[in-house]
Amino acid sequence: MIIVLRPHISEEDLNRVVEQVRELGLTPHVSRGVTRTIIGCIGDEDLLREAPLLSLPAVETILPIEKPYKLAAREFTARPTHVALGAAAIGDGGVHVIAGPCSVEDRPMLRQTAEAVKAAGAVALRGGAFKPRTSPYSFRGLGSAALDMLVEVREETGLPVVTEVLDTRHVALVAEKADCLQVGARNMQNFALLTEVGETRRPVLLKRGLSATLEDFLLAAEYILARGNPNVILCERGIRTFERALRCTLDIGAVPYLKQETHLPVIVDPSHAAGRRDLVPALAMAAVAAGADGLLIEVHPDPDHARSDGDQSLRLDTFAAVMEQVRDVAAAVGRPSATPVG
Ligand code: PEP
Ligand code: MN
Repeated sequence: MIIVLRPHISEEDLNRVVEQVRELGLTPHVSRGVTRTIIGCIGDEDLLREAPLLSLPAVETILPIEKPYKLAAREFTARPTHVALGAAAIGDGGVHVIAGPCSVEDRPMLRQTAEAVKAAGAVALRGGAFKPRTSPYSFRGLGSAALDMLVEVREETGLPVVTEVLDTRHVALVAEKADCLQVGARNMQNFALLTEVGETRRPVLLKRGLSATLEDFLLAAEYILARGNPNVILCERGIRTFERALRCTLDIGAVPYLKQETHLPVIVDPSHAAGRRDLVPALAMAAVAAGADGLLIEVHPDPDHARSDGDQSLRLDTFAAVMEQVRDVAAAVGRPSATPVG
């Protein structure tokens, strides 16, 4: 349920309502908009329905959230959520690009990639240390050695780092080293992992499962939010359909749908959707035009020799060119985007 308060109420009036919600045994989440404040309430909704809260002068109306997800629902907060990643606020209306290699392979390639993506205007470096691979015989990442390389390169470049966590046993370690925890498509419904990353306060980049509906996706985000971590970034990365020409089918409609349905930021990964690098630029531009808050793009200094996802990884110079195109599209649809620093 949400309690909508009258415009411009005093702090004292607000506190009175919050107190009453607590006395009923519900958890209030106060969210202040420009003129209005709303209180999202989690708990037994019948208690709220029966309580005489509507008679309080500060309360304008009480509305149910008719969705299975509550904390993730658009109505739950008065303004969109901004997730801080270094100096960037994902969800602030700008277009923010996170980029890097699928896997961290060694220090020099990570450093070279980080410098290039930073110079091209990326706001964060993404590199896999623990890799989910379809085959157990494929390269599965360098693990904690890669985390240390990410930390070093962050120190050198100032770029915040994003990396995937695959296992509940690694959450504390990855949360200690990385600025943002990626939960991959294959783990979107690993409820133990969602709960564990929800216990941290690190931003979580949650990727849509290969066969997850948008409702499943938002309920997965709800798991993280329900543990008290509000810093969730949703990432559409393509779903599996009957179509085989591309690696996945990028669900571009998911972007405007999610932007209406939730206050959480929504980014798009055109790399895993396309599966081949020549299609990545067009999908990246389409995502920005559709309203994405950012992009996650795989980049490699020598994609033909990459240890994972080389086919879809952009070369460093192509990435810089795509950033230009993304900036043009962002400007055409009235959105600010980061400019290169190098
Ligand atoms: C990745 O980001 O490299 C990855 C494995 O992504 P996904 O979970 O979307 O397949
Ligand atoms: Mn990858």
